[in-house]
Formats: sequence, C-alpha cells, structure tokens
Amino acid sequence: MAFKPQDQSDIRYNNTMMILNIIKNSNGIARSTLAQITGMSATSMTRIVNELLELNLVHETTLSSGGVGRKSILLEINDLAFYTLGIDFAETDISLCIMDFTGKILCKESIPRPLNAAQDISSLIHTLYCTYLNLMGRNSLDTQLMAAVGVGAVGSIDREHGIIIHEEITHTYNIPIRQLIEDQFHLPTFIDNDIKCAIIAENLLGAAHRCDDVVMLSFGRGVGSAIINRGKMMRGHANTAGEIGHTIVDFSDGQLCICGRRGCLSAYLMEESILEQARKSDPKIQTIGNIVACYQQNIPWAVSLVDRITNYIVIAINNAINFLNPRNLILGGKLLNDYPLLYQISLDKYNASVTYSTFRPTVRIIPSKLKHDGVCICPGCSRKTYAQNDQNAQRIYHRTITIRCLRFFWCQMFLAYRCFYKLIWYFFRIDISIFLSAQQKLQISLQADLELFSSHFHTNCLLQSTRKAFCQ
Ligand SMILES: [Zn+2]
Repeated sequence: MAFKPQDQSDIRYNNTMMILNIIKNSNGIARSTLAQITGMSATSMTRIVNELLELNLVHETTLSSGGVGRKSILLEINDLAFYTLGIDFAETDISLCIMDFTGKILCKESIPRPLNAAQDISSLIHTLYCTYLNLMGRNSLDTQLMAAVGVGAVGSIDREHGIIIHEEITHTYNIPIRQLIEDQFHLPTFIDNDIKCAIIAENLLGAAHRCDDVVMLSFGRGVGSAIINRGKMMRGHANTAGEIGHTIVDFSDGQLCICGRRGCLSAYLMEESILEQARKSDPKIQTIGNIVACYQQNIPWAVSLVDRITNYIVIAINNAINFLNPRNLILGGKLLNDYPLLYQISLDKYNASVTYSTFRPTVRIIPSKLKHDGVCICPGCSRKTYAQNDQNAQRIYHRTITIRCLRFFWCQMFLAYRCFYKLIWYFFRIDISIFLSAQQKLQISLQADLELFSSHFHTNCLLQSTRKAFCQ
C-alpha cells in the first residue's frame, strides 16, 4: 500500500478527532487533563477545544468539589448536537434507527420490504422517507439536526460510488442506493456491507469494544464474516473480503448454493436453505423457531437437522480461527441472536472439537451484544459521518469563509494600491531600494494573508476528511 503523507488538514483533523474522542469517552474532562493526555501544547489544544465549543459538539459544565476553592470547568460531549439515521437495508425488512451524537438509539422502526422491491426501489425509498419523517415527528426530534444517513446493506457494495453491486438473495444488480436516498432525504449518505457495519458497531459500542483484532461470523438469511485486523477493516480488493459463506465445505456432491456452485457453507446455513430442508420432513414448518421447538421435543428429523446446522457452524468457527487467528470472535446473525440454544450447542461443540489446545486460550468467543441493531448503529454513529453535515459546522464554515474571502479581496486591493504607489516612486527614480523593500514587504504580507486565508480552512478540515472514507 502506497504511503500517503499527511497534510496540514489531516493532522488537524486527527488531532480534533483525538480530542473529541477523549471527551466522548470521559464523563467530563478538564482542559488540563486533556492537555496531559494528548501531550499537545496548551495553545493547540485550546484552539481545537474552542472550535468544538463553537461547533456545539461539546459544552462546558461546572464541577463543584464541595470544598473551598475554584470550581472545575469540565468539557462534556453534547449528545444532542445532532442526530444520525442508520438504515439496515436487508432483503425482507428494512430497519431505521435514529441516534444521538454518542450513538445511543433514540427511536427505531422496521418496515417490511416487499418481494418486488427490487423492481420498484424508488417507491421503497419514498416509503422509507415517510417512515423516517413519521418517526422524527412522533419523537419530537428536529429534522434540521439530522446530519447524515448511513446504510448497511446485504451483498457486495461499492462504497465509493454508493452502489449495491449485487444483492444475492433478491438477485438484483447495481442498485444506486446512495443516489436514491440522497435525492429523497437530501442528506449525505454513506453505505457499506451489513456485516462490516455490524463489526464496527460491536467494536465501537458492543461486544468487542475497542478491540483491534476481531472477526465476526454472521449466520442469518446469508452467511458472512467481517475482519478487523490491527484496528483496520480488512476489505480486500473489491470490498468483499470475508465472504466465508461461499467457501466450499462439501466437495463431493454438495447442496446447490445461490451462487451457482455446490457445497458452499451458505447452502447449508442460510435461513431459506434450513427451512427447505426442514419442510422435507414437515411441510408445516414456517420458521427456525418451529425447528427449534421440534428439536426440544426430541423429534428425530429436527434433532438431526439441528445437529447438522451446528456442525456447519462449528466448521465455520474453526475455519475462521485457523485461517485468521483472531483474538476475539463474535458470533452473530439472526440464527444465533434469536435462538440462544443454537448458539450454546455450537459453542459446546466447538469447545469439544478443538484439536490444537494452543488455540483454545487465545481466542475469545463472544456473542453479539448489539444483535439486530448493530447494522443500523454503525452507519449512524460512525465517527466520520458527524462533521461533514453538521449544520453548525456548515454555518460557521460558510460564515468564516465569506469573511475571509472579503478580507482577502480588500487586502489584495490594498496591496495592489501599495504596489502601484511604489512603482510610481520607482519610475520617478526616488530610491530603488525603497521599492525592493516594499516588494519584499508586499510579498511577506501577501504570503501571511494567504496563510491566514488557508488557515481558516481548519474549520473545514473535518469536512474535507470525511469525504475520504466512511470508515476505516
Ligand atoms: Zn455459494
């Protein structure tokens, strides 16, 4: 990977994010403590804190020690500075979550996704928009404070262009989801694969909080995984790294998979596939819950099916551990989130199946904490969604730029006048040294003003950086 040197705005952005995150993770922090933790100079730290105060992202609070002396002023995050909207764009239903600045869910709602939605995606987005407005209205939330939309979608995702390249289960291709949502919501929109969103959410707020070495396996309507290695998402060349569902587990004469091959893991663990297998024995089976109920009644076909399902889950766990050697392995997805019995059977089988004892203590297997909300939460609370569209940031940015542009213009006019004035002197042969000196001063002055002008892009540094990527 090519090394990209950091420019001034990158450094400012990173410093700002560092301070913001420290404030966010504290229950109020004094400026002096902040300076100690960051090691930054008091001037730089104060400048960034003042910017955050001006942007209304943090606010000051007074801590009374109860004793004699000055009261401490602490900095706290302003959790209602703005909201974000997270959308879990799944095949059968679509969930919306509205979150505050800290990623806490304020309200949520799900709507069914009609099976013909692939053909009529625009009307689906319109329905989503109506649901969103209704949700905001019901909870007395100001739409003016909505900053951005994040979408976690199933399938292979082109994050840069905001397109669902291929949605496996509905067999749809090239859905320009970002454009459609931006046209309807008039909010900047970010998109990523659903499991990648879920692992980031678990990493930020859930089961693997602040762990930089995590793998997540998800078993639901599809089977997939996501990998965070050394704090960075492993994406692969086309953002499809982690497609464990299409690794072959039955080479001989495996079951047909939706990808067209035989013997893929997905062919045995996808919800539809499991139900299809169950209906061969009992046509009345409608849900995975029915199968689990039959298993608990010791009905032989259900016992056999659950045994087979959990065997394949354990194969996936072992493959992921052997291949990636993660410190933390999160097990999630509807199959395990909704049916703890399947989770427990799988875990027991895994523990009994570990061949290499050295692996056992090194891997921490944990259930998903955020469960179904994870996909929604990540797009909504991703640290990079916040700044670009914060209304206050925009307002301050435009005001600053307007003032600076005017100032720059008048400065140029003044310098041009000075230059002209000195040229007159020069042509009248007054003193060439005066002219040269004036030229130098002019250049220095011009340079200083240019720097001043560019320095005021610092309020925009957050905005610039957000365009680079949705998440790591
Ligand atoms: Zn396949």
